Amino acid sequence: MIGRTHALAAFTALGAVYFARSPQTMSLATILVGLLANQIGGIAPDIDQPTAPFWRNLPIGGPIGRVVDRMLGGHRFITHSLIGLVLFGVLVHLLLVFLQPIMPIVDISLVWAAFVIGMLSHLVMDTFTKEGVPWLLPLPIKFGIPPLRSLRITSGKNIENFIIVPGLIAANVILYATHYSELLLRIHQHIT
Ligand SMILES: [Zn+2]
Repeated sequence: MIGRTHALAAFTALGAVYFARSPQTMSLATILVGLLANQIGGIAPDIDQPTAPFWRNLPIGGPIGRVVDRMLGGHRFITHSLIGLVLFGVLVHLLLVFLQPIMPIVDISLVWAAFVIGMLSHLVMDTFTKEGVPWLLPLPIKFGIPPLRSLRITSGKNIENFIIVPGLIAANVILYATHYSELLLRIHQHIT
């Protein structure tokens, strides 16, 4: 799926987890850094794709993207697996611990969780596409839902653009509308 869909799916998953858990005091800084980490997690697996938005936005992203692509084994390889999730999880945790002194009011465990939720949502979404996801690498099997490849979604095409994206937007509207008063209460708790 394309970057925009993944970013939206990551945000949706984060919102769902946020409301499923009991309210927890967190600073506004934690919320903002957490949202950023969630969006990065949502597109992170596609750094193995030279045409990914991640690389397209860098001036010399094209050539670097292709080198990274080779190193990571090509599209939908290590970054699209549980091992990749663990590796990214460890790296991001180390990075957050390193950055903690310059952002003392940020709860890094929540930011880390937001990243993992974003990345996990990416793998789940890609599982619905034709290419499938090699969840259990080094086992070289790509899993997909539904198992029959021809019934799955083609990335960036009509079903993604006209069903998945509007569906995710609708899910957000429903999520925030049904939790509206609770959300106001939570915001009040967060900033006081
Ligand atoms: Zn992907």
